Amino acid sequence: MREKAAHLSCPFEDCEGYKKPGNGDIIFIRKYGKGETQNLFKCMKCRRTFSERRGTPLFECHLEEEKVYQILKCVGEGNSLRATARIVGVNKDTVGSIVKRFGNHMEKVTDHLMHDYHLEECQLDELWGFIKKKRRT
Ligand SMILES: [Zn+2]
Repeated sequence: MREKAAHLSCPFEDCEGYKKPGNGDIIFIRKYGKGETQNLFKCMKCRRTFSERRGTPLFECHLEEEKVYQILKCVGEGNSLRATARIVGVNKDTVGSIVKRFGNHMEKVTDHLMHDYHLEECQLDELWGFIKKKRRT
């Protein structure tokens, strides 16, 4: 977790460490939330704490990260929302909200899915096409 902290920067705009990762200003405090899926960090410059997920699509999302990406992978492989819900074992509305939420963060999510979940680019194209379509309706 210390390694993770080194890649983070302060999310508060009025802090001098804002968006400047790698200065060693961020320390890991503890895990929190349901199932302890979220990490709490502290900026040593302004002494405020923040969630790792702040500013990311996972912020205020109570699903485990692993599950979120399983959902996206399923959808990316061409499964319907209903089928994805059944495969991953979550509510169909949850799948819908994840899809909607991630539509705004395509680049970040694309990287993650390609590297950690070995999704091919064409599968991702399909996924984003699907998401765009869903957001219009
Ligand atoms: Zn700060």
